[in-house]
Order: sequence, then C-alpha cells, then structure tokens
Amino acid sequence: MAISGIKGFNDILPGEVETWQTIEKTARRVFSCYGFSEIRVPILEKTELFCRSIGDATDIVEKEMYSFVDKGENKVTMRPEGTASVMRAFIEHKLYAADPVNKLYYMGPMFRYERPQKGRYRQFHQIGCEVTGVTDPRIDAQLLTMLCHFFGELGLTEPQLQINSLGCPECRPVYRQALQAFLRERLDQLCDDCRRRYATNPLRALDCKSAGCKEATVGAPSVLEHLCAGCDDHFARTRGYLDALGTGYGINERMVRGLDYYTRTTFELVTGLLGSQSAVAAGGRYDGLVSDLGGPAIPGIGFAMGVERVALLLADQKFSKRPDLFIVALGDEAQLEAFRLCGALQRKGFAVEIDYEGKSLKSQMRRADKLNARYSMVIGGDELARGTAPLKTMDTGNPAEVALSAEAIGALLG
Ligand code: ATP
Ligand code: MG
Repeated sequence: MAISGIKGFNDILPGEVETWQTIEKTARRVFSCYGFSEIRVPILEKTELFCRSIGDATDIVEKEMYSFVDKGENKVTMRPEGTASVMRAFIEHKLYAADPVNKLYYMGPMFRYERPQKGRYRQFHQIGCEVTGVTDPRIDAQLLTMLCHFFGELGLTEPQLQINSLGCPECRPVYRQALQAFLRERLDQLCDDCRRRYATNPLRALDCKSAGCKEATVGAPSVLEHLCAGCDDHFARTRGYLDALGTGYGINERMVRGLDYYTRTTFELVTGLLGSQSAVAAGGRYDGLVSDLGGPAIPGIGFAMGVERVALLLADQKFSKRPDLFIVALGDEAQLEAFRLCGALQRKGFAVEIDYEGKSLKSQMRRADKLNARYSMVIGGDELARGTAPLKTMDTGNPAEVALSAEAIGALLG
C-alpha cells in the first residue's frame, strides 16, 4: 500500500504554489518599501524559549506544541510561531548593538498540534514582521498600514482591521482583577477550558467561541476603560496616526491574543469568508519580550499572517504562468528544428514547449491548448523549405508569418 502524508501536513502542489509565490513576492516587495530585511531562523528551538515567551498557561504551550527529547537528551520544540525565535536571534547576535531599531520579516512553516480543518493545519505557514526599538505609536500605525497595503496589493480588501489595547504590566493586572471579579459570579456558565484558566488567563473567556462564555461575558468590563494614562495616550495616538494615513479600522475591545507577551496595541485582520478561521493576520506590541528573554529593555511590535488562509482567499484566481509558445513539429527534420528553436528561445527567457513523442498534428495542437500557450507555430516540410512559419496567437488565431529564427520569433513574442 502507498504511504500517505501525515494528517494536517499538506503538500502544496503546482497550480496552488503559484498563488503562494505571488503572496511571498508581494510581501517582499511591499515590506521592502517600509525598510524591512529578511531574517531566517531555524525550525527547531529549545522548548524553554516558547514556554518563557508565549507563556506556560497558553493553549499553544499547554497542548499544541510539537516537543520532543532529541538523541542528546535536549528538550526541543518545532516552532509554533516566529516572534520568539526572531527575538532570540536578535538578542543572541546583538542586532541592537549598532541600532536598536530593526525591521525584520520572516516566512516559513510553523507547527501546532491542532484539530485540522479548513484554514487550520498542523504544519502551516506564516509570513511575519517585527519592529524593535520604537515605542512611538507612529510605528504601530505604519506597521498596520503596511499590512493593509499588502492585502490591498493582492486585491484583498474584504478583511477588516480590528485593533485593541491590552495595557501594560501596570494596568493589565488591575483589569484582570476587575474581569475576574465579574466572571466569579458567572463561573458555572463558562466552558471547562475557561473555568480552568479563570485564575491564570481569565482574558481568554472574552474571545471564547462557546455559547456559555459568550453569554457570560456580555457586559464584562472593557480593557479600554482600565488603561493607565500612558497606555491610553498610546492607543489614542495610534488611532490618530492611522487616521492620518487613511487606514480604516474597527475597535474590538474583546480582542485578546493567545500569547502572553503582548502589551498595548493588538490587532487582527479579520475575514468573514473562512468560517471560524477568521483571523488572516494577527499581532501586537511586545514591549517586555526582549527583556523577558534575557536581552536589554527594547520594545517591539509585530504580526504574522497565515499564508494558507491568504491563499484560500485567493483560491479563485489563477497565478500560473502560461507558456509563451508551443512549437508543433511534423517529421524528423522539423522536430530537430523545433527542438533547436525551443532551446534558443528558452535561453532568451521565453517559456516554450514542444512535443517529445512524434504525435499527430491534432494531438500536438490539443496539448498546446491544454497548456494554454499564448502562441503556437506549426513546422513541417514546407515551412522548413520556406524558412518561415505562421505564428498564431492562441486567443485570436491571427497568424503572422515569421522567420524560423529565435531572434525573429522572440521579437514577436515580446
Ligand atoms: P486562531 O485564532 O485562528 O487560532 P491564533 O490566534 O492562534 O489564530 P496566531 O498565533 O496569532 O493565531 O498566528 C497568526 C496567524 O497565523 C493567524 O491569524 C492565522 O492566520 C495563522 N494560523 C494560526 N494557527 C494556524 C493553523 N493551525 N493553521 C493555519 N493557520 C494558522
Ligand atoms: Mg490558535
């Protein structure tokens, strides 16, 4: 019996992969306008890195990590997200030494043991950005605007930007207490998960999908009413700068993130088209993370988007490249001429296809159609004798007689 892949681990096949390449190319192009450089970090890290950054009481660390002990007895984890690794590298290589302001992006696979469904997999891919060293909310507004700009470049204007502030170590504990006091009266309405994490992570109840939690949290105190003066000002200025850039957003005061390191500005890009997998990108500020990981006190902000979800939003669009030309050849001599022309045109940068099996005219034309070539050309004995052949656009069928040379054909293919 043939061996299949592992559940939740996907192959990305030709036909889809062009969509991925478009997403990646667009990201590189847009991010470079905002001064970002790529960083590549390993897939495997010490388990401790994620426990310390994401937080022991989060879903990711409690139940979703692919962790194992390697042959040297080291506890390692296949990264469930990118920020922790990027900040680990930032500290380890002292990227802050020359300039605390770094703008970094990454792309690659992440691993979480979740229940696979549309838009949720065990190996999935993120493209993410991180900015270190800037507290000023102009960077919050710029980063969010860049994210919207990126989606706009892909023609995706439906996802809505939602923002919130989660406060800081000064004001969040006060809010947490207020929320706990509110939930205490309603503990029996909460789902098992939220009741269990009532003491450690009560904010999760605010975005829990269970009906009981939704009902129990109606009228819950808002984090925005508990922000300290500094966080309140930061949030107000972030909104002001978003307005200045003309970036639309909605405020979602129930938005919480599943990672402990977030402070102040948090945000999601939310779609209505992917069911409960509604977040296509998410992120926020993490002003304490670098120092929590043993680095200097340098603030940060970043986001990650789920590439599978972006690709799903683009699923009805075709990004595959069409061959420029299919050369149909009849007879041995014509086949050799087609083979030579094909090679010369490929070296000039054109995508050219030929037949390899000595098939009939009809069957070669069918293949040209199937490959959706832009142009076709038929070479037989007459064309060889003349030294020219008709070059036909497959769409309009209008032929133009052209010399059998790569220069002449290339000039027409444009
Ligand atoms: P969700 O609420 O959908 O579980 P999350 O809050 O766990 O998302 P983050 O950790 O913030 O997600 O990751 C950022 C983005 O990565 C998400 O917005 C989503 O697009 C994508 N993502 C997260 N987990 C998965 C997964 N298992 N499969 C596919 N994409 C994912
Ligand atoms: Mg999740």
